[in-house]
Parts: sequence; structure tokens; C-alpha cells
Amino acid sequence: MKILVVEDQRFTRRMLASFLTSAGYAVAEAQDGCEAMEVLAREPIRFVITDWMMPCMSGLDLIRAIRGRSLDRWVYVILLTARDEKSGIVEALDAGADDFIHKPFDNDELAVRIRAGQRIIELTERLERLAMTDPLTGLLNRRGLQETLAHSCPADAPLGFAVADIDHFKRVNDAHGHDRGDLVLKQIAGLLRGLFEPDGIVARVGGEEFWLVLRNGDPAALCGLVERARARVAATALTDEGHDTLSLTLSFGLTMVPALQGRDITTLFKIADGALYRSKQDGRNRVTYVAPDACP
Ligand code: GH3
Ligand code: MG
Ligand code: MG
Ligand code: MG
Repeated sequence: MKILVVEDQRFTRRMLASFLTSAGYAVAEAQDGCEAMEVLAREPIRFVITDWMMPCMSGLDLIRAIRGRSLDRWVYVILLTARDEKSGIVEALDAGADDFIHKPFDNDELAVRIRAGQRIIELTERLERLAMTDPLTGLLNRRGLQETLAHSCPADAPLGFAVADIDHFKRVNDAHGHDRGDLVLKQIAGLLRGLFEPDGIVARVGGEEFWLVLRNGDPAALCGLVERARARVAATALTDEGHDTLSLTLSFGLTMVPALQGRDITTLFKIADGALYRSKQDGRNRVTYVAPDACP
């Protein structure tokens, strides 16, 4: 775990940093709140230990900025303070500090308070992962896809958007039971993952529908890639020990934009969904591409 130490007095900052380093933490340093916000914008640090009195931006103002809307993640903050009167502590916690420690700090106390914060960060990260993951298949869910796109999608590179829907999936449930249906969903999720990741992103959105974001340079390459995936899934025997082997097909709808540039992702998937509808109408087990100029 990396901890950002924010302290205007060089000696105290260096002392804190070397204590944290010897305790096994990675450390970043800033000499005031302004510099701290720059570091937090640059690096995905989730743990901050900050002094209170500093030029440019005080510890409290830094905490308010962190709690404001400018950061995309939750950050744990310990405020270092020489002030120990009750009103100071109330003010610090009210501003959004998670904990505080008095200067000069005691190493043992600081170590256990950091571990307490670390537990909360780990729990937060676990909850965030759960909130972004489909529990059945382990794929990203819609929220996970949106978060991933917001953080890792180039705004200026061509991107393909695909919707894949299992053909006649209801029949699997009807004929073989819901548990087998669940197994098939997991198997198809695994196939899609193997076919499209790590270059692309695969998410399960809705029952037997998957959303894909693919980084292909042009529509022909995109269609070729998806067409090969369609054929692969159709040719795969879905086994379940002691039961009939099944084979299922997917229908795909695709679209592509030369660059995302702030476009609404939901709209692009709606366009891909329109193409999927055509695949279904045309007999299923096929790929339909809608030209980018259909995009608003
Ligand atoms: P189409 O080719 O038109 O897509 O037909 P379909 O049968 O795949 O589509 P339909 O929308 O009629 O049925 C989808 C079925 O997916 C109905 C629903 O019970 C099933 N389903 C949705 N989520 C799950 C799930 O998590 N597990 C299982 N086993 N079934 C699911
Ligand atoms: Mg100071
Ligand atoms: Mg279906
Ligand atoms: Mg469906």
C-alpha cells in the first residue's frame, strides 16, 4: 500500500516517510495540500497522512477537497495535529478526517492506526469489486463496464461496441433446468473472456446478454474478430458431466466509432442492440454491423 505524507516541515515529513518506509509501505510526499491534490490526481493513492497547518492549502481544506467531487475514489485520511483540544478534533472529523494523531507522534500508535485504516481500505476495495462484478460469471456487470471504460478507455482511438445474446437460451432452462442454464452462462462467459480479453472488455448485462468493448482499428477487422468468435462458440460442445452435451449459438450486433470523445456509451450500445435485433430477425447465430455514421 502506498501512503501520501503531506507535511510542510521537511524534517517531520522525512521522519514520517522513513518510518513508513521501514514499516513496509510505499511513500509519496507533498509539502502542502495543493501539491497533495496534484499527487492524488496523478497516482491512485488511497491513504493520506496530512499535517493540519500548512501554507497554500491546510490539512482541513485538503480533506474537504478529497471529500469533494474532484476525486474518483474514496481516500482514507489521518490528520496529524499538534492541537488536541476537543474543538479541533470535532472540526477535523467534521471536515471528513477518518482519524487523527497528535504530534509528536508515537510510532507504535501510528502503526496501529495505519493498520486500522488499511482494513477499511481493503473492505472498501472488496465492496467496490463486488459492486462491479456479476456474481454468477465473474464478469464485469454494467456498472463495472462503465467504471472500467471511464478509467481505461482511450478517448481518441477507434472502439467497437458489441452486444451478444444467447440464442434460444430459455429452451436450456426449460429442457435442462435452471442450474444447467447457470452452468451454460458461466461456460459462455468463459468462452467470451478467452476470445476477447485482455484486449477487449466483456461484461454480463442482463440475463443472457453480454456487452463487449473491442479495440479494433476498422469495421472489417472488428467484424472478422466477432465473426470468428461467433463460429467458435457455435462449434463448442458445452459439457456437464453425466448430462447431455449442448451446443448453443450467439447473435451479435456491432457498431464502431473512430473515437469515443465523450460520446455516451449507453447510446452506442443501443445502436449495437438495434443491430442485434436484426441478427435475431435474420435467423440468429449471426453478426450484424451497423455503420458508424448511424451513430448520433
Ligand atoms: P432469443 O434467441 O430471442 O434471445 O431467445 P431466448 O430464449 O434466449 O430469450 P428470452 O428473452 O426469451 O429468454 C431469456 C431467458 O434467460 C429467460 C430467463 O429465464 C433466462 N435467464 C436470465 N437470466 C438467467 C440466469 O441468471 N440463469 C438462468 N439459468 N437463466 C436465466
Ligand atoms: Mg505544518
Ligand atoms: Mg437470448
Ligand atoms: Mg436477451
